[in-house]
Amino acid sequence: MIPADTPFWLAFLIVSAAMTLMVTLRYFMASGLFAWLTARLRPGLYSGLGKQIAMEVRYSLIAAFIYGAPAGIVFWLWNHHGYSLLYTDWNAYPLWYLPVSAFIYLFVQDSWFYWSHRAMHASPRLFRLAHAVHHQSKPPTAWTAMSFHPIESISGAIVIPLLVFVVPIHLAMLGVVLTVATIMGVINHMGWEIFPRRFVHSPLGRWLITASHHERHHEEYRCNFGLYFRFWDRVCGTDRGLSKRLNQPAQAPA
Ligand SMILES: [Zn+2]
Ligand SMILES: [Zn+2]
Repeated sequence: MIPADTPFWLAFLIVSAAMTLMVTLRYFMASGLFAWLTARLRPGLYSGLGKQIAMEVRYSLIAAFIYGAPAGIVFWLWNHHGYSLLYTDWNAYPLWYLPVSAFIYLFVQDSWFYWSHRAMHASPRLFRLAHAVHHQSKPPTAWTAMSFHPIESISGAIVIPLLVFVVPIHLAMLGVVLTVATIMGVINHMGWEIFPRRFVHSPLGRWLITASHHERHHEEYRCNFGLYFRFWDRVCGTDRGLSKRLNQPAQAPA
């Protein structure tokens, strides 16, 4: 707990540093786990990518601060001043609202990502300035998940801190949303499909973004702009389907 009479700038520094540390640890744990899994299940997939991975880690560490600072401020405003619509009482809203709130957060984040991502690809200047860094990962790896130019990191870092002042959410559901964001960010970039083909091609799977879908964005640039759901890509005609490289049949005919 930070004493109530702590100057604002000092409280800001403490909570921002703490959150930055948490986001950094989360990045190393999640990306490290799936990079280790990749080395075991797809040996050699990242061979020769050492320099690229070092760059990805550098940009991700900057992003960790950019994600951590606003998250820290929100946490401090909530914990010490009671602002925001975060709640911890399970009975504050009906139980059905728990998954609904998580879905709203994911959908809003996905919508913001789709349109801002599409805008960055539509303008060559904006692309060079803010998004080219993410596409320097060729091919992406488990370490690419947070490898963004600081401008793109700011764009990605503001949605959830703003949402907690608009849409009520239980602290545990916010944890679920952040876990989904972290894990999907890593596995969508790791260069191989972890979900069974049967799921990816199922009626539900066809609306969700997994590595097969996002890899195609990294291959062709001008399609598959979404983050979690294929909704906007399908509605706007920017969905080109799955990466052929990641979707080859397990036993390709000779
Ligand atoms: Zn990407
Ligand atoms: Zn892109």
